[in-house]
Amino acid sequence: MNSSVLKKVLLFGLCGGLVLAVGILLGHFAIKKTASSQPKWVEEAFRDVDESFIETFISEVDAAQIEANLRELTKVPHMATSPGDEATVQYVLKRWKDSETGLDDAWREEYKVFLSFPDKTNPNKVTVVNPSNNILFTVREKEEAYYDDQRDPEVVQPYAAYSPAGHAKGKLVYANYGSMDDYKHLNNTMNLQGTIAIVKYGTVGRSTKALNAAQFGIAGILVYTDPLDINDGKMSDKTETYPHSWYLPPTGVERGAYNIKFGDLLTPYLAAKEDTYRISKDEITDTPPIPTQPIGFADAYALICELAGAEAPEKWQGGFNCTYNIGGPGFKSTSPFANSDVKLDIYNFEELRNSANVMGVIRGSVEPDRYILYGNHRDSWVHGAIDPSSGTAVMLEITRVLGKMVKEGKWRPRRSIIFGSWGAEEFGLIGSAEYTEEYFTKLSERAVAYINVDIAVFANATLRASASPAAQNVIFTATKQVKIPASDTVSVYDNWMKYYNRSSPTHGIIPNVRYLTGAGSDYAAFMHYLGITSMDISYTYDSSKTNARIYPAYHTAYDTFDYASKYIDPGFTGHQTVARTAGTVLLRLADSLLLPFKCSDYAESLELYLDESLKRYKTQLENKKISMAPLENAVKSFREAASRLEGVIQQSDFANETPFKIRRINDQLMLLDRAFLNPLAFPDKYGFRHVIWASRSSGVPTFPGLADAFEQADSTGLQDDWNQVHKHLSIVAQAINGAAQTLNDVI
Ligand SMILES: [Zn+2]
Repeated sequence: MNSSVLKKVLLFGLCGGLVLAVGILLGHFAIKKTASSQPKWVEEAFRDVDESFIETFISEVDAAQIEANLRELTKVPHMATSPGDEATVQYVLKRWKDSETGLDDAWREEYKVFLSFPDKTNPNKVTVVNPSNNILFTVREKEEAYYDDQRDPEVVQPYAAYSPAGHAKGKLVYANYGSMDDYKHLNNTMNLQGTIAIVKYGTVGRSTKALNAAQFGIAGILVYTDPLDINDGKMSDKTETYPHSWYLPPTGVERGAYNIKFGDLLTPYLAAKEDTYRISKDEITDTPPIPTQPIGFADAYALICELAGAEAPEKWQGGFNCTYNIGGPGFKSTSPFANSDVKLDIYNFEELRNSANVMGVIRGSVEPDRYILYGNHRDSWVHGAIDPSSGTAVMLEITRVLGKMVKEGKWRPRRSIIFGSWGAEEFGLIGSAEYTEEYFTKLSERAVAYINVDIAVFANATLRASASPAAQNVIFTATKQVKIPASDTVSVYDNWMKYYNRSSPTHGIIPNVRYLTGAGSDYAAFMHYLGITSMDISYTYDSSKTNARIYPAYHTAYDTFDYASKYIDPGFTGHQTVARTAGTVLLRLADSLLLPFKCSDYAESLELYLDESLKRYKTQLENKKISMAPLENAVKSFREAASRLEGVIQQSDFANETPFKIRRINDQLMLLDRAFLNPLAFPDKYGFRHVIWASRSSGVPTFPGLADAFEQADSTGLQDDWNQVHKHLSIVAQAINGAAQTLNDVI
């Protein structure tokens, strides 16, 4: 028997068997369902979301409980793997194992990960030294202490995690945000070899500032936050900044990980267990090649305002009351620092440390093998009241309310809920990324959605949500149900629409759900690596009232309980609103008979991306004999398939359908984001496999592979680069066609 005959026989046997089995099951089911003595599981199998239960949940979420959680979580600094971090592990475990308000089960899972720290006994130093090696000026090693929180000996010295140890000395130059263009601009007028650059936070990633600098021979960089970018220009801690307001004090320093890839750096695509294969340290490519140190703006002011050289371009000027010059290189001849160098002595060291995730579960009653995941990281840089403890305080309140219902036997979700308190996020989303690597297969096959609430409250004005378009619908339903803190009648939805909206061809004016394109928090591995429909939810500020890039105390020693309770969310009602909203999304995903995902909203996003790319690229691509028609057709067939599936859903009376049909449609919806994965699409972008939402360097809001390839080809004009554009057009068209096919009828 040859193999094709064998296949036919097997296929016939299989299909025949399957028809028979389904027939028996359906017959059995039809009889049982109409009979008066139907088994208990029938009613259970058709149980839908219980609106009154959601109302109960919303009313039970208590702001005072969230405040108490936050107070407990922020008692001491809890940087990843520190004693403070271990205390939070124990606290979350205790809460999730509580016999009255805990979950079904909770445990810790450890990974051995590669972290970078400053040396406590040998602090990093930044000085100005004259030609005879006298120190003229020393940058502060610690932030100014206003309260005991800042005096805690566990407050880590501001540093750039993964910056190499080393010594660098040279004339200072000012390089704006440290983008490639910024350095090129300087390089046109001076020799950057051996200089030290001072750059601002913002515009490009932390590590990118150093990687770019090294290409021009720059020996070291200092990074600071300009008061124009974070403080609306405010600088005085006597009257204007914290402790008088939410603004960053002059000595406040943003700490951060200076890397690009997410997950443990030594175990790419492998879970970092004890015996896992590790690459060597030299093989890490995306961390700073030169000594790098962040400093406060008080020190940056002292340095920048003394710089010689030409006036920096208008766009480079910041909040200081002096003209920002680019540097001679070096300081003005009239400055006390004339002829002096800036010197960096960095003593950071790297170490393998055990970092813990805490996991907790509520088992589903009908579909326990379908998971709704909800998570946030636990580790902070210092006390981390806002980042990340506001999110953990919210998560613990959600688990308290739901845990109590489970323990009292009043409720059990249809699908299983998995809570994750991730470790070592601040060092590069490590805990969540290792988790997705270890459970790659199980999560790929069974996870329905991931909800991320990291910084729960940036400020207390309005909701902010980023999500896969599939999830827009459930976020809207939840936000229409929850009221804003200041009113019993205004919904979160209506308030949100007032602040951030867009005009949708399908829905008219709606709140603007942002694209989930970057890797800013733990959703990255779920969305981009596994293709699990993900969302990131928080409360935020009124952007007409401040230009702050992020809340000003971000990653500093001022992100404390005092700061959060006085200036971010007095009364904790913003936290409460986020808990109610994210919790309602969670319950709808866990309990709805039919998953509340909408593929027509996905179609709309694809159409918006398509319109943008046609507008930007079509003429030029036609000149290159590259047709965009396959992409246009793919988006069209996706829209048709989405409409067809939604037609089927609308025409179905699920109470009288077979559970197989419901499960089949749910699987189509669950796997929709998975359908856009292509592991080979972006060989240069670590962990990014989702063809639609991968990160992009181009500013054009469209298909990332296409946008980046086009930008490259447009700048070089090389045929090879135009070929890449063609390749990415084919990749995205195929992905969209493939996704459309999964929405179509089964055969
Ligand atoms: Zn965070």
